[in-house]
Amino acid sequence: MVNIDLHCHSRASDGALTPAALVAHAARAGIQHMALTDHDTVDGLAEAREAARAAGVGFINGVEFSVEWQKRTLHIVGLGIDPSAASMQSTLGTIQASRAVRAQVMAARVEKVGVSNAFQRAQDLAEGGQVTRTHFARLLVDDKRAKDLKQAFKRFLGAGKPAYVRGEWLELDTAVQAIRDAGGVAVLAHPLRYKFTAAWRERMFQAFVGAGGEALEVSAGSSQQPADIAEMTQAAQRFGLLGSVASDFHGLDQHWVPYGRLKPLPLSVTPVWERYPALLA
Ligand code: AMP
Ligand code: MN
Ligand code: MN
Ligand code: MN
Repeated sequence: MVNIDLHCHSRASDGALTPAALVAHAARAGIQHMALTDHDTVDGLAEAREAARAAGVGFINGVEFSVEWQKRTLHIVGLGIDPSAASMQSTLGTIQASRAVRAQVMAARVEKVGVSNAFQRAQDLAEGGQVTRTHFARLLVDDKRAKDLKQAFKRFLGAGKPAYVRGEWLELDTAVQAIRDAGGVAVLAHPLRYKFTAAWRERMFQAFVGAGGEALEVSAGSSQQPADIAEMTQAAQRFGLLGSVASDFHGLDQHWVPYGRLKPLPLSVTPVWERYPALLA
């Protein structure tokens, strides 16, 4: 069976590894085809692609867009995109600008809970990449306001907590359309991680399909329980969605599955790469 992982992060957003180091790590983990899907940026793709070529790993251009839908944040992965497409570039410009504004507001709130010079330090940590909540979480840990990232989110950065700032993210339709216009396929990321009831999850799938979305992360790093995979398999079947496999790997300290060890898609789900073989070409 081919080892495929269509969702991970590098230092271009909130991953711990440079794009080249991430690809080397993927190769060591036995991954044969990978997509780099940084939050709201394509800046890591060129370096990762070059490293993948050298390592003999198949590489897929990706992105993970932040979307606001029904007052919640959803993540939409684009696979097989042309990063230089005009629609992609302009959509990235829009969302990166709102990410930068949010980082400033968030920095002020993080300072209020005891972190000094938060904006500058978050920018330094990001090294020119997108500033995310993960960067602020690291500052909270460094300044002993939380014992680990998880606690930093639980106490300060999660929705409704003192340092939380809602992002002005993309509309669902805008994100999906930008991916399609760039020649890519839109994938609904980690569908079980949103705090929705089953009924709202149904509406989310409906809206995603209505926007032109085509695939679902059926085997997601954060949802590897057989019951989770069975539930997403059913959803994929009912909504006519293709399946993706997606670790959402961010770094070496990840608590989910070991890199390269995702559960395979059930045979009853059509893999996104079967419908779009160019992804593995
Ligand atoms: P942002 O897009 O700036 O809101 O940051 C979201 C990122 O924060 C996600 O992609 C995760 O990598 C990270 N994150 C969210 N919740 C948690 C959590 N509870 N523990 C650790 N990381 C988290
Ligand atoms: Mn992340
Ligand atoms: Mn995500
Ligand atoms: Mn992700």
